Amino acid sequence: MRLFTLGTGAFAPHPTRGGPAVAVLAGGGQFLVDAGENVGRSMRRAKLPLEALDGIFLTHFHVDHIAGLPALLFAMYVEAGRGGPKPDRLTIFGPPGLENLRRGFLNAYGDWLLEPGFELEWREIPPDGELAPAAGLKVVSRRVEHSGDLICYGYRFVEQDKIATISGDSTFCEALLDLARGAGVFVCESGKAIGDRSDAPHLTTKEIGLLATDAGVGQLVLTHFVDPADEQRLAEEVRQYFAGELVVAQDGGVFPV
Ligand SMILES: [Zn+2]
Ligand SMILES: [Zn+2]
Repeated sequence: MRLFTLGTGAFAPHPTRGGPAVAVLAGGGQFLVDAGENVGRSMRRAKLPLEALDGIFLTHFHVDHIAGLPALLFAMYVEAGRGGPKPDRLTIFGPPGLENLRRGFLNAYGDWLLEPGFELEWREIPPDGELAPAAGLKVVSRRVEHSGDLICYGYRFVEQDKIATISGDSTFCEALLDLARGAGVFVCESGKAIGDRSDAPHLTTKEIGLLATDAGVGQLVLTHFVDPADEQRLAEEVRQYFAGELVVAQDGGVFPV
């Protein structure tokens, strides 16, 4: 299994970080978790063919996590229309509300989404979902606590003894601890500094460190950065609570599991 941190920013335009997106190569398939702004360009840079995509797992529908999705689908549609390479079948997975999103995209962008020139399926997955999107690959979804009633999922990819977890956007919750337990690589949102009293629905650095320690993860990969000035400080704070390997992800980072 291999992970690519394609986009390591968040809602704020960032000079070097694109919108949230992680590619997962596992079970002979190619998957995305979230599709932030410019995800297609990041895939090209990482030499991940668009047409090799098998599935896209959306964590939630905050704009920064899905902004790149219509553009990515449009690129695949145009390419398919001119006889270029296209996916055999692409499935977009997401929490309840995905059907609403699909209809919104249809209204906004037009009927080509109904027949994009390849098989496109939209599939809502229930909390506590367990899918097998490729042979020998299990993907577990759990609802993590993020922003009020908004449903957000974290995902755990399991291929034999290889485990990778992607947090989604989350506050401290039991579900995220379960998802991260024993993960070789845990890609986690970078959260808030110690002493940050804002009500932003994200993990604090202390919570990230404690959670990663409790879960016994091998490598902790921090992502979802907002302010370039904060990055090293956030990582140093997490380090006070996590003795394992800690990486500040960059766009284009590659992580074997
Ligand atoms: Zn976010
Ligand atoms: Zn969010």
